[in-house]
Amino acid sequence: MSYDKCVRCGSCVKFCPMFDAIGEEQFSPRGKNYLLQVMDEIEDDAELAKEFRRLLFQCSMCGKCAEICSSDVDLLQIWHKQRAKAYETAPEEFEYLDALKNALANVRNIYGLPMDDRAIYWVDEIEMSFPNIEDRLYEKGKTADVMVFLGCLMSFRGSQIDVLKSFITMLEELDIKYLVMGAEEFCCGHPLDLAGDEEGAKDLQKHNRQVIKSAKAKQVITCCPGCLMQLRNHHQLDAEVLHHTQFFDRLLDEIPSYNQTESFAYHDPCELHRLCEVKVEPRSLLRKMDIDYREMELSCCGGGGLLRLTDPNLSDKIIQLRAQKENLENTTVITCCPACREQLLGTNLKTKDIVELIDQSFRGE
Ligand code: SF4
Ligand code: SF4
Repeated sequence: MSYDKCVRCGSCVKFCPMFDAIGEEQFSPRGKNYLLQVMDEIEDDAELAKEFRRLLFQCSMCGKCAEICSSDVDLLQIWHKQRAKAYETAPEEFEYLDALKNALANVRNIYGLPMDDRAIYWVDEIEMSFPNIEDRLYEKGKTADVMVFLGCLMSFRGSQIDVLKSFITMLEELDIKYLVMGAEEFCCGHPLDLAGDEEGAKDLQKHNRQVIKSAKAKQVITCCPGCLMQLRNHHQLDAEVLHHTQFFDRLLDEIPSYNQTESFAYHDPCELHRLCEVKVEPRSLLRKMDIDYREMELSCCGGGGLLRLTDPNLSDKIIQLRAQKENLENTTVITCCPACREQLLGTNLKTKDIVELIDQSFRGE
């Protein structure tokens, strides 16, 4: 077992955003690993075992601990496996996950909204600017080289509409032959994977794979790093899967300079840079637009790992601490992940996705 390799050096402790927010060892990767190592004794201690199961879901699955550990402890894989085991052992302790699981089983999105709404809300919002947008929605028999996989947040959340508008604007301006999966899109399975339900995630992915195959897409693009991870690693697609920053960086050798009047800081989404290893392209795009920005510490926004659902107070505390430490007053935070964006907006921070900046640069705004 990989957790046996932990030598308790403590290198991971101070980098863990949970430990940083709470300051108690049991929230740290080392603390949880220690509890795992003495699991036999814990299992005799029902209260402690219950506490351990709770701790497993007080983690944003940011992957920082796995990156830091030099003893090859595969921490992210451990957290995944232990979450699955915890849910299996005591499902009654995770009733708050039932609504999510039921929504995904019944209507295939995390919000429990009708399936057709995936291609209604945002279409209504942008139809004035793009009267032919409905032609871009996938239906059986339609094909395109590029398939757009929006994901649940981008499809349903009003807070994402500006990003979506800029994204569609750029695809149209660049004359990309694309389709949006729309009502035929199922959740990528990421939330189920994080809840330890790999089989449930696979069911959703099977449908997406069939749709993408029948559209004969050569590329799939998404703005969401969580979807990116699932599409790349678990959908078994023949198509190339790209984050929108990769797609645009490849296509755009030059971008008009951005008319900058504000201070910018770049928040690099954990799932994008650490788990998908997309680090160069977002920065390359910012450079092409001549944007002057500062790098924020490579740290979590508190929005991943289902933490918003399992412990919203802790999730809030993490983003608030981050805002304080980085002194973000009078700064617009650039990012390229809808979940990070939700966290930033929830703390009243100003934020822009990179594709909004690209769109504005081309429009000379
Ligand atoms: S860095 Fe690795 S070896 Fe060190 S305490 Fe953390 S998990 Fe254990
Ligand atoms: S994945 Fe992130 S939040 Fe979870 S234990 Fe590791 S460093 Fe802490």
